[in-house]
Amino acid sequence: MEIGDFRLEQLSEGIFEVSPAGSIRKIRNHHEKETPNEPFSRVGLDPVLIDTGSNSILLDCGLGMGLDRSEPEPDTSNIVTNLDIFGYRPTDIDVVVLSHLHYDHAAGLSFTGTAGQVTASLPNARIYVQKLEWEAALGSIGSSPDVNGMGYEPDDLYRLVADGRIVFLEEERREIVPGITVIRTGGHTPGHQVVRIRRKGQTAYYCGDLIPNELYLNRFHAAKIDTDPLKAKKARMLLLQQCWRDQATLLFYHSVFRKAGMVVRDKNRGFALKKG
Ligand SMILES: [Zn+2]
Repeated sequence: MEIGDFRLEQLSEGIFEVSPAGSIRKIRNHHEKETPNEPFSRVGLDPVLIDTGSNSILLDCGLGMGLDRSEPEPDTSNIVTNLDIFGYRPTDIDVVVLSHLHYDHAAGLSFTGTAGQVTASLPNARIYVQKLEWEAALGSIGSSPDVNGMGYEPDDLYRLVADGRIVFLEEERREIVPGITVIRTGGHTPGHQVVRIRRKGQTAYYCGDLIPNELYLNRFHAAKIDTDPLKAKKARMLLLQQCWRDQATLLFYHSVFRKAGMVVRDKNRGFALKKG
């Protein structure tokens, strides 16, 4: 996909099944029909790669399954194997934006090396996280995970924090690279942020878990995946209106069916994705 002269790719880690307690496993052979009304029982996992010509940027980093060779599933796709598919090395990535710090978005940033040391998967990346989100992750230590089971695992990030690799954003909006703007929304988590990609009159939004898949286009009741459901609902509505006004393409992280599409209005004035 292209937005202006930016190249965008979605790096799919496959389809996963999430148990109510938050354990996640890859579905390798799924013969049964998918269940579209249960968006969090089956999820895709698609970090976004943006090549601006000057910067190689990742939006969220996936689960990192298989990066640690001692794992039960060593041979599975992850951020490193997926970059390779598109001709990029981990050292090429210079910017990462994390929408929030739940482990299904952040765990791919690091892995445990053979000597037990936490190692950065993307050794040259500067990582942008909202300061509020880091505080929420630290504050969660010892508490049970969120309603949907997706919790924080801040331990894996201490190494990157200690190495000064993480930029903690305090402002609500910042253009981190020309054409790439992060916008704090809160709602899903206290420091959740989305990314606007704008280049030569074209726009795309990556909305993390605020709009995780196409089923959230018209889901204006408070969703139980959010830590602040009312705030999330309001932010989701405002973003969708903005996307529609901008004729923007939405990129989904957790979709099983449609990974991206342009936001249009349907005949009932609801939001939909442009066909085709
Ligand atoms: Zn998620």
